[in-house]
Amino acid sequence: MAAELEAEVPAFDRSLLECSAEELAAKWLQTNDLQKEVYQHLAYYVPKIYCRGPNPAPQREDLLAQQVLLGPMEWYLCGEDPAFGFPKLEQANKPSHLCGRVFKVGEPTYSCRDCAVDPTCVLCMECFLGSIHKEHRYRMTTSGGGGFCDCGDTEAWKEGPYCKKHEINTSETEEEEDPLVHLSEDMVARAYNIFAITFKYAVDILTWEKENELPGLEMTEKSDTYYCMLFNDEVHTYEQVIYTLQKAVNCTQKEAIGFATTVDRDGRRSVRYGDFQYCEQAKSVIVRNTSRQTKPLKVQVMHSSIVAHQSFGLKLLTWLGSIIGYSDGLRRILCQVGLQEGPDGENSSLVDKLMLSDSKLWKGARNVYHQLFMSSLLMDLKYKKLFAIRFARNYRQLQRDYMEDDHERAVSVAALSVQLFTVPTLARMLITEENLMTTIIKTFMDHLRHRDIQGRFQFERYTALQAFKFRRVQSLILDLKYVLISKPTEWSDDLRHKFLEGFDAFLELLKCMQGMDPITRQVGQHIEMEPEWEAAFTLQMKLTLVISMMQDWCALDEKVLIEAYKKCLAVLMQCHSGFTDGEQPIVLNMCGHSVETIRYCVSQEKVSIHLPVSRLLAGLHVLLSKTEVAYKFPELLPLSELSPPMLIEHPLRCLVLCAQVHAGMWRRNGFSLVNQIYYYHNVKCRREMFDKDIVMLQTGVSMMDPNHFLMIMLSRFELYQIFSTPDYGKRFSTENTNKDIVQQNNTLIEEMLYLIIMIVGERFSPGIGQVNATDEIKREIIHQLSIRPMAHSELVKALPEDENRETGMESVIEEVACFKKPGLTGRGLYELKPECTRNFNLYFYHFSRAEQSKAEEAQRKLRKQNREDTALPPPALPPFCPLFASLVNILQSDVMLCIMGTILQWAVEHNGYAWSESMLQRVLHLLGMALQEEKQHLENLSEENVVTFTFTQKISKPGDAPNNSPSILAMLETLQNAPHLEVHKDMIRWILKTFNAIKKLRESSSTSPVAETEGNIMEESSRDKDKAERKRKAEIARLRREKIMAQMSEMQRHFINENKELFQQTLEELDTSASGVHDNSPVTSDAKLTALGPEQTRVAEHRQVVMCILCQEEQEVKVDSRAMVLAAFIQRSTVLSKNRSKTIPDPEKYDPLFMHPDLSCGTHTGSCGHIMHAHCWQRYFDAVQAKEQRRQQRLRVHTSYDVENGEFLCPLCECLSNTVIPLLPPPRVLFNRLDFSGQPNLAHWIKTVCQQIKALYLLRDEDCASKSKELNPYSESIKEMLTTFGTATYKVGLKVHPNEEDPRVPIMCWGSCAYTIQTIGKIVVSVAFSLKDDCLTSLTRFAAAHWTVSSLSAVQGHFCTLLASLVPNEKNGNLPCILDIDMFHLLVNLVLSFPAIHCQDFSGVSLGTGDLHLFHLVTMAHIIQILLTSSTEENGMDQENTSSEEEVAVLTLYKFLCQCTGSALKEISSGWHLWKNLKAGIMPFLRCSALFFHYLNGVPAPSEMEVSGTNQFEHLCSYLSLPNNLTCLFQENSDIMNTLIESWCSNNEVKRYLEGKRHAISYARESNKLIDLPDDYSCLINQASNFSCPKSGGDKSRAPTLCLVCGTMLCSQSYCCQTELEGEDVGACTAHTYTCGSGVGIFLRVRECQVLFLAGKTKGCFYPPPYLDDYGETDQGLRRGNPLHLCKERFKKIQKLWQQHSITEEIGHAQEANQTLVGIDWQHL
Ligand SMILES: [Zn+2]
Ligand SMILES: [Zn+2]
Ligand SMILES: [Zn+2]
Ligand SMILES: [Zn+2]
Ligand SMILES: [Zn+2]
Ligand SMILES: [Zn+2]
Ligand SMILES: [Zn+2]
Repeated sequence: MAAELEAEVPAFDRSLLECSAEELAAKWLQTNDLQKEVYQHLAYYVPKIYCRGPNPAPQREDLLAQQVLLGPMEWYLCGEDPAFGFPKLEQANKPSHLCGRVFKVGEPTYSCRDCAVDPTCVLCMECFLGSIHKEHRYRMTTSGGGGFCDCGDTEAWKEGPYCKKHEINTSETEEEEDPLVHLSEDMVARAYNIFAITFKYAVDILTWEKENELPGLEMTEKSDTYYCMLFNDEVHTYEQVIYTLQKAVNCTQKEAIGFATTVDRDGRRSVRYGDFQYCEQAKSVIVRNTSRQTKPLKVQVMHSSIVAHQSFGLKLLTWLGSIIGYSDGLRRILCQVGLQEGPDGENSSLVDKLMLSDSKLWKGARNVYHQLFMSSLLMDLKYKKLFAIRFARNYRQLQRDYMEDDHERAVSVAALSVQLFTVPTLARMLITEENLMTTIIKTFMDHLRHRDIQGRFQFERYTALQAFKFRRVQSLILDLKYVLISKPTEWSDDLRHKFLEGFDAFLELLKCMQGMDPITRQVGQHIEMEPEWEAAFTLQMKLTLVISMMQDWCALDEKVLIEAYKKCLAVLMQCHSGFTDGEQPIVLNMCGHSVETIRYCVSQEKVSIHLPVSRLLAGLHVLLSKTEVAYKFPELLPLSELSPPMLIEHPLRCLVLCAQVHAGMWRRNGFSLVNQIYYYHNVKCRREMFDKDIVMLQTGVSMMDPNHFLMIMLSRFELYQIFSTPDYGKRFSTENTNKDIVQQNNTLIEEMLYLIIMIVGERFSPGIGQVNATDEIKREIIHQLSIRPMAHSELVKALPEDENRETGMESVIEEVACFKKPGLTGRGLYELKPECTRNFNLYFYHFSRAEQSKAEEAQRKLRKQNREDTALPPPALPPFCPLFASLVNILQSDVMLCIMGTILQWAVEHNGYAWSESMLQRVLHLLGMALQEEKQHLENLSEENVVTFTFTQKISKPGDAPNNSPSILAMLETLQNAPHLEVHKDMIRWILKTFNAIKKLRESSSTSPVAETEGNIMEESSRDKDKAERKRKAEIARLRREKIMAQMSEMQRHFINENKELFQQTLEELDTSASGVHDNSPVTSDAKLTALGPEQTRVAEHRQVVMCILCQEEQEVKVDSRAMVLAAFIQRSTVLSKNRSKTIPDPEKYDPLFMHPDLSCGTHTGSCGHIMHAHCWQRYFDAVQAKEQRRQQRLRVHTSYDVENGEFLCPLCECLSNTVIPLLPPPRVLFNRLDFSGQPNLAHWIKTVCQQIKALYLLRDEDCASKSKELNPYSESIKEMLTTFGTATYKVGLKVHPNEEDPRVPIMCWGSCAYTIQTIGKIVVSVAFSLKDDCLTSLTRFAAAHWTVSSLSAVQGHFCTLLASLVPNEKNGNLPCILDIDMFHLLVNLVLSFPAIHCQDFSGVSLGTGDLHLFHLVTMAHIIQILLTSSTEENGMDQENTSSEEEVAVLTLYKFLCQCTGSALKEISSGWHLWKNLKAGIMPFLRCSALFFHYLNGVPAPSEMEVSGTNQFEHLCSYLSLPNNLTCLFQENSDIMNTLIESWCSNNEVKRYLEGKRHAISYARESNKLIDLPDDYSCLINQASNFSCPKSGGDKSRAPTLCLVCGTMLCSQSYCCQTELEGEDVGACTAHTYTCGSGVGIFLRVRECQVLFLAGKTKGCFYPPPYLDDYGETDQGLRRGNPLHLCKERFKKIQKLWQQHSITEEIGHAQEANQTLVGIDWQHL
């Protein structure tokens, strides 16, 4: 393939290499017309170098270009050899203090929350680490590409603008110095010449649009060679492009993917090369194929010369960028060249030309020139300003181009706005000199053209295209935000003027929003189509912050504020003109007050939620108070023009609308309205919507008679009749049988009362109440935390987006909350401090209804716990600012008293009236507020003031004639004892108490001191406390009783599935009772315990009774009864692997008899331990299978388990399983003969066995199968399960089709047993023996019994081969040498296959003897293995005087080994070292062997062994029937061992190893761990940003993903790195799991900060990363950007999941819990 491609590239002209740069430069230095010379040179050579064939050859092109094209330019520029010239320039340069590093995609960036002027100011990692900010509160994000490091920009940082690296010489260059002074005059002239020519050439050729001509250049190549160029767009998908290309240019899918990837990355790629006709043809096919639904893909047929020159043009721009890096002087010259006006006047500079053709350029070209702009214009402070002006002047055009363009913003020149507008001095300059604010707003208005008759925005016919454009338009709002980010510290008249002009434009914009999307209540039928509402709300949402910023600016200057206020008011009046036209005014009368208003019903007429002008005015009004302008210059304000009823009208309508929606009156208007109401209150909008409507009401009401306001409000709520007419309510509810209407009215009354509470109570904005910003934020936090303890991120989300959100919050959080650290799961939480609960207001206006009821419940519970009464009285409030002071009078107004009295009356008379408890609760709250108010007034009373707030007096007065209703106070006293108001009793009591306190205060204010009354209250409260205490105790007792009762009925009601825990408990109880029998057996009590051999400790048989989780019948585990099985999961595993690159060649031919000691792939079996009858399981499994097949046919969805592969979920715990293991009694008992006389020694035994084997070979032909069948003691059902599990192990372990006859089945079963024990042995250091481990016990016993259901001769054959590896015979040649055998696997295989020989043995040797000899033999082989491979470094220390017996013995053995190997073994003289190594090396083997024999024979382990201590070795030896001095084994059996050792050592492989020609595993094998992760997450981000896709040549990977097992970085979720696996395309991660983890993988997705678990191709889940921020939270998706640090405990937990083989199980649980995970295409990750 590669060779073919080479051939297609024509050989280049050798003459090219002879071109001398030096000579050419000399010629250029002489010439008069440099441009002509250069152009001629380029015209001739460029087409000879670039674009010589169908595929680009960038390396060759670059090489030649440097030699022939750029070389002369460099010579010319330097006037000498550039190898000397450039370093000179660099030396003479005074480097700028700007870092200016341009960010790569995915590179980490840092911002300081304390010092950054705005959040767009960022540092690169290097600068950050060298800055003071790393000690501050910083934020970390990954760059989306573009943008550069702001280090050194003094305007970007309040403090520490320089890092250590860029700090040098700061003192010298404070003053602006012209960098040109460092260059010679000649140099300046030459640079100017060559820059002007090359820059112009590049710009001309890149912006060239003709297809057959060149700008100012001759077409030297006239050949008919064209390219068919395919361009990128954002409309067509990858798949569409790939498919089309395959059709159009006849390429393979691979090539098409290559083309598509390049097009996506660079913006264009030639897909065909040849004559014009040939290219045209491809073009037409592409266009035809892609034009069906959308606009077609852009394709252009271009002459090869043009493409060549364009390629070189790009190269030149990059070159210029690197040249100016040598010198700031050169940079300035380039800037000058770029911004110099061309011959065509305005907008004709090269920079203008590039910017204005931005949208016509392809992505690659844009990126190159943007980068050049960033490294030139933006790095030179003088030219940055000039460039900013050019940018601002072209702003409208650039935005228009961007709207038409379909590329992402990141590749548009419009995105450079952030670099310019966020610089405070530039922004200020652009506002005053270029009127930027107005420009932006007007440009914005240009693009929103759909208006209704009144000139308001209209989004009714909102198409997808419009939505797309609208999203683009929103970027203008972002620009406006940038401009406003930094607020001016000083105002010039110019700035005032231009800001106010911008404000005018802004008001025009808001005016178009005022009243948009009006709605009318739908009666009768439901609306047919949900009206469009999202566009309007998106606009509002995006503008929210800008509106707030506008107000912030206004607040800074009194003159601006006054002007803005006037302008805003004027616009509002315009909006309201015609507001009362044609309406008959009506008059309302109540309690002797009367007011005139208009006739208007929200439920009948049009109403709109969008009132930005009113709301802006409300905001400004508050500022008048906050800045005290209202008090200082009242004469300058148009206060007299304000008409309070007009001000409140629209906000009031909007609030009434909300109330009516809540009361269910607008149900027929559909969900769109519900959504709008939701956002109106939501934290994203409320600041400039709901909050400001409340402020507007407060503003209006503060200027009105409260009685008038209340009457108007009643009228708007359509409740006027009810309260103005005595007894109307009574009549209303009796006459009106329609319960809905009654309910509706009740809700409306509740809502109205709530609104009054808010108007009077919400005074925590500076300017309304006498508070500061800190008080406001504190109150928000207190109320959020009143609901429940919250994590940092939750709190942040609950606060509006402004500077308060985080830094503001953090400044107060310590005062109001305590932080609680997270555990292994979950996150850190803030908990409200107890003393803050007294500030809790049940009717806090930002609570949603759900939050309010949760908070109420939580607070009442808390008070109960603290033994307080459960009243939640209103908190004491800060006083109003003077401008709003009159608001408190609402509470004591006549109409208010009437409303409260009426409702209390309803409650007193209780029956027959429509009233609700919430209504009463709100009235009580209002009463409480009024009392608090009066109390505060009295307490703050100074000499000259008279208390005008006389609420207590008013509520003591009975109603007037004629109805003579009782006083409010009297009614309260009645209600206090009403049985139906139990819940409110505490509150009523609180009100009465407070009333009395105030009365006393009033009396005492003249005479007695206040203390007395307080004493009384104290006394009273302590008495209350006693009572409360008694009550509380009774309550607790009652609750406990109730709980128990509930539990009991629960237990009876539910089936196990719904009550798993309980059921599990019972199971465990059963279990303990069963093992209890065993523990009490006297045999085991004192004697020495031995696990195997003739001396094996006899264990008393105990009945094992288990319960089936499916039918719940109990059954004993017996040989001849029905089988009981455990749900189990078998998987291939590489967890223990010491060689991850190894793969099994061909599963069909692979022989697993010997396990290699690198343990590269094993079979693991796990179980959740839940037991079933075999037949119950079978029935269950069949049902699942049938159900799943139906479901898959119907829904075509995946499940978390793969039924076709035999997978199912444990019916009890939903643990993923793929087979079952039968439960068996200890199998040895069945075959062991209890005759111990005259047992042979090892040598004798081996001889006997060898003879036996020989005999067997002779008997082969005879059918012994029948015999073994006779011998088989197991019931049919158990035999069936033995086969089932065996086959499953074989199938999964080898990845082959099931075949129960295959002779490898028993090997796989033994292997799984050995491997699983090894994994346990690795995890548990102190061997925890427990018969309760059902899984391992069953697994071992199963493996021991499996031979009874497989071919006897096959098993016998296996045994012979296995034994031959240690005891060679002539039949079995070519076996692995002892270095290449895992001895534990060998032991297990030998021991478990031995009964197959033994069952036909009549020599009278016991099975136990065989076990013991096999064990000893393997142990000795292992010792030799360890000694051969031990890499002991003899370091001379610890050469203790006397050597122990063990050390002497092991030294002797080692010396013998040296002899056998012909002295190839390293000489070691220290017995101490050898013994130490041996002991350490053999421990894991001994531990695993102990476990194995323990599970096999059921001999309990001595309790001392469970403690890992110095004696563990001795205990293990004793338990395993080994001498403590292991080498004694050799001495005892020296007759046979010497021969064996000699034969082992004479093996060729062993020799090669000793000669250093091959490698071998040494012992003890260390257990595998996941890779080490850095503490600071940004290290990983940095590592990932430097990682490029291994397949697409240096391209950055989009989803770099780290394998946590081996540390490989992968390019995930991308076409470039897809490979084929078993006939399917899979992503890099899935492919990697197959080599690294045999299908299971643990990854860290670095950009997402997310752990990924994969198992097989279809299963996966995300798991929380082990990185936490300071608030104890993870940041999945890296959205918050707090610094993240490794949490070692959480990482250990992940590691443990991996080591315990629980990854697949974890995925299963995650997928069961979250069905959406099932739908993800895991295989493509
Ligand atoms: Zn930097
Ligand atoms: Zn720096
Ligand atoms: Zn800082
Ligand atoms: Zn059962
Ligand atoms: Zn289970
Ligand atoms: Zn890739
Ligand atoms: Zn890996």
